[in-house]
Amino acid sequence: MTVSINYEQHPCFNPKIKGKFGRVHLPVAPKCNIQCNYCNRKYDCVNESRPGVTSSILSPQQAVLYMDKVLEKQPRITVAGIAGPGDPFANPEETIETMRLLRDRYPDLILCLSSNGLNLKPEYIQEIAKIGVSHVTVTLNAIDPDITQKVYRWVRDGKTIYQGRKGAELLLQRQLEAIANLKAAGIVVKINTIVMPGINDHHIVEVAQKMSEMGADLFNAMALLPTPDTPFQELGEPDAKTLAKIRKECEQYLPQMRHCTRCRADAVGLLGADQSEEFHGCLIACSQAFIPLDQKNRPYVAVASTEGLLVNEHLGEARELQIWKPTENGFTLIETRATPEPGLGFERWKQMAEQLHDCRAVLVSGIGTTPKRVLTKYGIQPVEMSGFIEMGLETIYNGGDVSKLKGKRKSINGVAVGCSGTGEGCG
Ligand code: SF4
Ligand code: SF4
Repeated sequence: MTVSINYEQHPCFNPKIKGKFGRVHLPVAPKCNIQCNYCNRKYDCVNESRPGVTSSILSPQQAVLYMDKVLEKQPRITVAGIAGPGDPFANPEETIETMRLLRDRYPDLILCLSSNGLNLKPEYIQEIAKIGVSHVTVTLNAIDPDITQKVYRWVRDGKTIYQGRKGAELLLQRQLEAIANLKAAGIVVKINTIVMPGINDHHIVEVAQKMSEMGADLFNAMALLPTPDTPFQELGEPDAKTLAKIRKECEQYLPQMRHCTRCRADAVGLLGADQSEEFHGCLIACSQAFIPLDQKNRPYVAVASTEGLLVNEHLGEARELQIWKPTENGFTLIETRATPEPGLGFERWKQMAEQLHDCRAVLVSGIGTTPKRVLTKYGIQPVEMSGFIEMGLETIYNGGDVSKLKGKRKSINGVAVGCSGTGEGCG
């Protein structure tokens, strides 16, 4: 898989064009999976932002609406990035869905992500490479776990929280794996290292050297911006002379980014000519907008049927789903897709939602609460019904009342059979 890279129009990676082209940050990622000692979660993520008031949060669909409006007013925006206000991969569903929607709508837009690297799993890297995310920033503050452990209060992996050396080792291992996998996928990688006096300022050059060996493309040694109510609030900023010396030494290993403006998680405009304030009202309006399901990018409907005439299968039991589309004379079956293997629990429904990314609805005779929730979250409307497939398709495509499709359930010995489970069991 080769990711196509546009070197000419990304202002963060190419200082020569920073006054010509701009970027927008889409705040779709509110949660974080680590606690940095320089971060106060009342403020935006400082990995790619200066502390400020908490941003509005957008859903992936709202992010696309906001992108439309930003481009109308500022056509010089060439990059859409996600940099918080938490971590993009602590919110992987929202992040990947946003990137996918943007890629479908804007084939030439440069897509960019910025992460702490903890949850940048190989499968997510494969997915973003497939979508065409070409630039990723990883914040890596040290390559020695004894230093790393001074920077983070805790690290959360799934439901487990790690502290001290154990947390540092886990974070570091994941960050290095993620960087190697990003490079193997052909993605341009920038490393952000926050220079913290007395913590890692003696160690930055070693980080740059290691990153050069791993094939990283750009290095951004950023000055710590002490944030109130954090363990590092008293640390102080490194002075300009120290920072310049560090960058010069790092330069023997990697090109240096010297034009970073530490932009907010909802930054918009050219670097150094930020328009966040101007777009603030627009961002708020978009965060409150009700967006109906994205029908343009979801032309199909998935159907659980044993013979292609009736909707007669429970989603948990369906080994394949039929994919239907409208034609001038009715509807036609275009393909069948095998459903993910049972036994994966929640992961099965997530995989199914990704598999049905181009479907606006799924017609089933029954569905559990977990798959219903997951599919809905991904923008696929689950419709429980009985009867002819065509009837269901007409209702979906003509905007009819889907609740009327819900007929009498099958019964065994007079007892109605319906699903009242969570959907975990049959997953
Ligand atoms: Fe804050 Fe970002 Fe660190 Fe998370 S990764 S704690 S949001 S600075
Ligand atoms: Fe990408 Fe970071 Fe630039 Fe935003 S500031 S566009 S996340 S490199």
